[in-house]
Amino acid sequence: MIPVNSVLQVGQFPEIMQMEIDKRLSTIQLLDPQGIVPEGNFTAILTRSNTQIPKALLEKMPGVRMVATCGVGYDNLPLEHLKAHGIKASNTPGVLNDAVCELAIGMLLSLLRRITEAQAFVKSADWSKSPFTMTTTLAGKCIGIAGMGRIGQDLAKRLEPFKVKIAYTGPSQKALPYDFFPTIRELAQASDVLILACPANPETDKMINAEVLDALGPQGYLVNIARGSVVDEDALLVALQQNKIAGAALDVFENEPNPRIEFLNIDNVLLTPHIGSATSETRQLMTNLAIDNLEAFYNQQPLPTEVKN
Ligand code: NAP
Repeated sequence: MIPVNSVLQVGQFPEIMQMEIDKRLSTIQLLDPQGIVPEGNFTAILTRSNTQIPKALLEKMPGVRMVATCGVGYDNLPLEHLKAHGIKASNTPGVLNDAVCELAIGMLLSLLRRITEAQAFVKSADWSKSPFTMTTTLAGKCIGIAGMGRIGQDLAKRLEPFKVKIAYTGPSQKALPYDFFPTIRELAQASDVLILACPANPETDKMINAEVLDALGPQGYLVNIARGSVVDEDALLVALQQNKIAGAALDVFENEPNPRIEFLNIDNVLLTPHIGSATSETRQLMTNLAIDNLEAFYNQQPLPTEVKN
């Protein structure tokens, strides 16, 4: 049993998640992680992957021994501090694959077939003046996936029926029927579309730079459903503005929820507000998996999805 009011809930939670939390837990909330910590005997934190947990917050609460985040990415947790103090952490992998893959494929198709612009074209009545521009077929293309993990592999399986070739890169080659390229530059060179599905970490920081975008080339497209930090946004803006690549679909940005204003004024981008996992069903699953981890922690059981730090 989780002791009443022993969990501090940090950050803003959408209503659908709060409803799940309130069914199973009695928490105290801290909306702003930089804010004043409420009085209480907290031993765990429940948060979301979009909320940065500062080291200073944990220092104010030495009783906290567990941080459960809703989301698979844990780049907003102070990993070194957690490790140094033996504080456990959990995330919610797997349960969001369906939603993230569905969004990635929707963005990919919309980018190539220019669906949002086609709708604007019909709504503006331009159709009566001239036909809509020609677009690009997905079939026959090579789709490069950077990060062939849970989401990357689910995405690859879903893409196969579109008659595409699949290739990937990552730290290790896997027993998969897809071409492996040892570097991101080589993968970009071989790909018509590069999809990012890797974690944010020091190795992936600004991994998509000018050289990689040049390798992707003027017919190439970029889809980022990973994290904003994986892309050098200065280089991407130049590549889009100068048509060094054909287009990009971005669900994530370096500065959320205020992406660079230049992105808003370019035609060859499709922008979504970090909604990879944002379906009611998925958010319920994520919340419940995070609470399962908290329950396991309080019952001194192995955590179902511990972040091995
Ligand atoms: P995962 O199972 O850990 O897969 C990540 C994959 O990335 C692993 O296969 C890993 O390779 C690979 N990788 C690590 N470093 C790499 C590098 N430098 N270059 C290329 N690949 C690299 O994680 P997941 O569950 O698939 O999630 C992936 C990421 O998606 C998360 O970390 C999160 O940031 C992002 N995400 C975004 C949304 C959204 O709303 N847009 C939602 C969910 C997740 P190894 O297997 O060799 O270690």
